[in-house]
Amino acid sequence: MTNSPRGVMSMFSRTSSQASSRTASRTLFPPRGTLDADQHYSLDFHMHSTASDGALSPTELVALCAERGLSHMALTDHDTMDGVAEAAKAAREAGIYLMPGCEISTRWRSIGIHVVALMPDGAQGPMAEGLVRQRQARIERASAIAEWLEKIGLDDALAKARAQAGSERPLGRPDFARALVADGLVKDFAEAFKRYLGSGKKGDVKAQWPEIGEAVGWIVDAGGVAVVAHPLRYGLTRRKRGQLMDTFVEAGGQAVELVNGQQNADTTRDLARQLVERDLYASLGSDFHFPGSHAAPGSMSVVPRTGAPPIWQHPRLRLYP
Ligand code: AMP
Ligand code: MN
Ligand code: MN
Ligand code: MN
Repeated sequence: MTNSPRGVMSMFSRTSSQASSRTASRTLFPPRGTLDADQHYSLDFHMHSTASDGALSPTELVALCAERGLSHMALTDHDTMDGVAEAAKAAREAGIYLMPGCEISTRWRSIGIHVVALMPDGAQGPMAEGLVRQRQARIERASAIAEWLEKIGLDDALAKARAQAGSERPLGRPDFARALVADGLVKDFAEAFKRYLGSGKKGDVKAQWPEIGEAVGWIVDAGGVAVVAHPLRYGLTRRKRGQLMDTFVEAGGQAVELVNGQQNADTTRDLARQLVERDLYASLGSDFHFPGSHAAPGSMSVVPRTGAPPIWQHPRLRLYP
């Protein structure tokens, strides 16, 4: 179920001659200093595949990343590392560095918070156990979501969401959103979230998720780096966001996504101050799910120079083999 931990260890070392020639031609990455607007970032540490709610298989995702000139990528499917082995194989062949990872669903003060786990040694020990629990939690949550959606008129909600998923992977809210669209109960995906599944709606079931500190513990104890995903997407005030970061740091969390997709430079600078105050590393990722969306792999807004050290300098990530 969870992928063999040790098998992915070698992914972070160059294993093909192709890798050397590819990266050698790309002098701009990895930049050695702070994140800087003058640099071109050919890396992406937050992306999804068909192992969760992404549209591309791990192999197809790696191919797209290669086509777009990425040198480093992390696969971060929701609550699973099931796609990592396949991605690792494709990445070795394409000559890209593949960081094993996932995006853990957690809770903080009853808000759903996502934590990206960058796992250079794969999912071992506490993380492997944590992912087994997340899988079970997702299954239970899907039943709870289905029960509620049946009340608003989506008969056989679980079966319909399963049909939308098109595989046996644990279901997520996007599968239910597509089922609502297919049945004509909402006009589109966005409306499904706005009315039924989004933050604060009844279909946003969170009871099954662990407290953020617990999930951070799994990650850190298994040799990984915990990253607060898209910190600007939780509707928190600056002060509350700071409190979230404090809790996260107390639990051993090491990084925050300074840039997730597109955001303006002033916002990024202000967020960076909150990272610097807490000695947090800065990560960045597109949160890519499907081709055609604005969040293509590697597409990030320009990153202003800030005092937060970039994630690839974290001693656990060994980006310089
Ligand atoms: P889940 O992991 O089952 O909680 O589903 C969360 C996923 O649903 C996110 O990772 C997004 O891919 C998608 N999602 C969440 N909120 C929205 C929204 N408002 N509009 C579109 N997609 C969303
Ligand atoms: Mn998603
Ligand atoms: Mn997320
Ligand atoms: Mn994501």
